[in-house]
Amino acid sequence: KNYSKEDILKQAEELGVEFIHLQFTDILGVMKNVSITIEELEKALDNEIMFDGSSIEGFVRIEESDMYLRPDLSTFTVFPWSGPVKEARLVCDVYRPDGTPFDGCPRNALKKVLKEAEEMGFIMNVGPECEFFLFNTNEKGEPTLETHDNAGYFDLAPVDLGGNARIDMVATLKQMGFNIEASHHEVAEGQHEIDFQYADALKTADNIMTFKMVVRIIAQRHGLHATFMPKPKFGINGSGMHVNMSLATLDGKNAFYDESDPLKFSETAYYYLGGVLKHAKAFAALTNPTVNSYKRLVPGYEAPVLIAWSASNRSPLIRIPAKRGSSTRIELRNPDPSANPYLALAAILKAGLDGIKNKMTPPPAVNSNVYHMSEEEMKEKGIVGLPGNLYEAVEELQKDEVIKEALGTHLFEKFTDAALVEWKEYASYVTQWELDRYLRKF
Ligand code: GLU
Ligand code: MG
Ligand code: MG
Repeated sequence: KNYSKEDILKQAEELGVEFIHLQFTDILGVMKNVSITIEELEKALDNEIMFDGSSIEGFVRIEESDMYLRPDLSTFTVFPWSGPVKEARLVCDVYRPDGTPFDGCPRNALKKVLKEAEEMGFIMNVGPECEFFLFNTNEKGEPTLETHDNAGYFDLAPVDLGGNARIDMVATLKQMGFNIEASHHEVAEGQHEIDFQYADALKTADNIMTFKMVVRIIAQRHGLHATFMPKPKFGINGSGMHVNMSLATLDGKNAFYDESDPLKFSETAYYYLGGVLKHAKAFAALTNPTVNSYKRLVPGYEAPVLIAWSASNRSPLIRIPAKRGSSTRIELRNPDPSANPYLALAAILKAGLDGIKNKMTPPPAVNSNVYHMSEEEMKEKGIVGLPGNLYEAVEELQKDEVIKEALGTHLFEKFTDAALVEWKEYASYVTQWELDRYLRKF
């Protein structure tokens, strides 16, 4: 919906909104808020709300800390769970005092790549599949790793605590304007998935941030803890955030569809695929940004390990879902829900556009379960793996000029600095695994 300033002022008043949360996302993908009262709404809509950017992780140095928030009026949404005191939100872009977009704002970075796509004649459409776990909380309200559900993939009755919470999440998301396409129990105990309808990449990135907020809030109201941590438990499936994507032409046709091809895939789709495969190693740092992300990307748990594509099998990085015509798309399977959706989508799109610009023909499809592929066969077919850990991923990112350009210098530097600090701390930490293995042995 395209609201004007007057529409929003009027709506807020009619609905009795008293607080407005001005939301934006930091480099690490954490949602931040500046909350204002209704009296200040007009000022906010005139882009006059300032905040101190130096307190935000990876934003700016103290000397240049004043930042302005510019609300995107199309994102005005009332929180259905707010009580007698009604609350609403507006998603914002971060601007410098001189009126230029701040290059440390992830949403601005995505917008920049989307503009590049538009100049090439394309709009990026994305439909994500967010998976998450629901865990019980203890007497103090802290999360545990326990669930008391015994359900598995697509199980239905009897509805457990988690199932009830999920129904409430779907209902709340619908009230906030989401079109929910599916919601089901996932493979692992306590694991769930809710899929919402695809939209253009910017809207989808906003939706992912809103989705994660809603899921966590509603879980808490049911006495549960929702986590988007990629691999909370060893030995069972982790949580992915598969990215289904396609390009549309500016007049709204699916640019990935071509009736005449055996797979009904257009030349544009093949080149895009080629670009995504080529840059996958480098954008992994963004689609899989935590130490824990790489514990999900191991064989045997439906998560990808090798950089390959398939029209049928689910073990490679990219799968081509059976839908054709206007639903022709590719499904990228490595992203996980700890990713900053703005940065992840900016990097993936940039990779695909590079494929189109440089006509990158993808290698042949691999239609077997690649978990069991031998080293020899991999070599023969020229297939390589995704980075094995966050450190390797950052190294790959540092080598890739195209993906670096998607972030811009500021975001690239802040992002890699933060990731390396995280890696170093982890690498020197003594884990229970080591104690179990070495304490008695040596
Ligand atoms: N949970 C799996 C993952 O880590 C994906 C399962 C599915 O195919 O939906 O990516
Ligand atoms: Mg799933
Ligand atoms: Mg999927």
